[in-house]
Amino acid sequence: MTDSILIVGGGVAGLTAAIACAEAGVRAIVVEHDAIVGGRLAAAMTQKSSVGDSIDGVPIPKLDALAKMSNIEIFTLANLEEIQGGPGNFDISIRERARFVTEDCTLCNHCRPVCPVVRSNEHDAGLSYRKAIYAPFPETMPPEFVIDIDACLNTPPNYLPCNRCTEVCDDDAIHFDVPLERLHQRKVGAVVLAAGFETATDSGASHRGYGEYPDVVTTAEMERLLTAPGPTGGFAARPSDEEYANSILFILDELTPFAVHIVASQIGRLIAQDVTKIALLVTNQPGNGEQGSLLQGFPEGLTVNYGLLQKVEARADNKITVTYADFSSSRIPEEQYDLVVLNSIVSPASGLDGLAQVIGCELADNGYVSRPDSDNSCATSRPGIYAAGGAAGATILGTAVAEAEVAASAALAHLDPRLLGDGHAAAGDSEAGLEAAVASQEELRARIERALFAMLESGE
Ligand code: SF4
Ligand code: SF4
Repeated sequence: MTDSILIVGGGVAGLTAAIACAEAGVRAIVVEHDAIVGGRLAAAMTQKSSVGDSIDGVPIPKLDALAKMSNIEIFTLANLEEIQGGPGNFDISIRERARFVTEDCTLCNHCRPVCPVVRSNEHDAGLSYRKAIYAPFPETMPPEFVIDIDACLNTPPNYLPCNRCTEVCDDDAIHFDVPLERLHQRKVGAVVLAAGFETATDSGASHRGYGEYPDVVTTAEMERLLTAPGPTGGFAARPSDEEYANSILFILDELTPFAVHIVASQIGRLIAQDVTKIALLVTNQPGNGEQGSLLQGFPEGLTVNYGLLQKVEARADNKITVTYADFSSSRIPEEQYDLVVLNSIVSPASGLDGLAQVIGCELADNGYVSRPDSDNSCATSRPGIYAAGGAAGATILGTAVAEAEVAASAALAHLDPRLLGDGHAAAGDSEAGLEAAVASQEELRARIERALFAMLESGE
């Protein structure tokens, strides 16, 4: 009988599930394809982050607390290679790619300046640059630097035309003569899929000045600007000249709950930074009552206009001019802003289809993991496999965290009850497992309600 649960994805949902398992007294094995854990909230999870222990009233895991939990095993740069067996007794293979920098790394930073390879920093939404050897943030898990071997001049392996980094590393922490990949075998009782979702720039964004004017950004980039370890120290500064932005326009094509949550959260933080003028332009006709109720998610007094976007253009003084045909008045206002923010579109994590194939669970028509069991919203089509957060669709933070806890609870039900601490639902047989699943569903609803309530209470 195994004492472990596999969690695929090391973002906020995956780490929440891992902590829930670890606190229940079992081993959590986290498999993350990126070089660090934390996903898009990695910077907010650092010990010194000014974000605090919660975002929008939702508690987020902290990396320093995570590091103290000895029963969480984390594989980064890793993928689930194979899974066989059934609930309570899965055999899994994990393929881990080489980091080329060992735990001996002291973060002295001697290597970074000498590396000649410059790449856009994907951990900073592309708003900053990194080298081929780098650490995405000052504090990460794992803490050591990593080499992007696809960008490194020493690719292909054993061809060493560069070595500038190894020559300045006094701690002998950089090694190219290591296996490129290693396979790890484990036994787990259940799996929590928490692969997250991805944000991308709308293909129509280039017609709105994105990519042409640096001060037209996406909500994903704005999130980085508003994060303390981000490129502007957590303040809404214009990427073009790093001047503080005093007037900001958000443009949404439609009011969906997810988009409203993201934009409302960012507007709340901008208000706290005393940004004097914030407005929202919705480019589709105002909808029915549901749209009206979604508007209530925004801070009171926010200027909301509805109109067909006509032009986004930079002026000589760095202001961005926006013109639109107002639906209600037929006027064509022309307004100036320091910063314009376009909505990022969300999609299933890249590789989710391949992962679903490896695991043997079905995807829904929208490309996310299907959860067909209406009695247990986290169960996938394969018994013993649960999906939480963005793996099953783009979710707001509170929902992702709540689902992660419920998925972890359902996964724990497949382990021997004697392994679990007090107060945790556990079932080794199907009847008790069903009870746990039903309890999970009720718990899920209650947790989501609490998360949304906390969000509204915080005024964001
Ligand atoms: S020089 Fe070596 S010890 Fe210093 S940051 Fe680079 S890899 Fe780490
Ligand atoms: S060996 Fe690779 S990582 Fe090191 S300095 Fe050269 S290009 Fe950069």
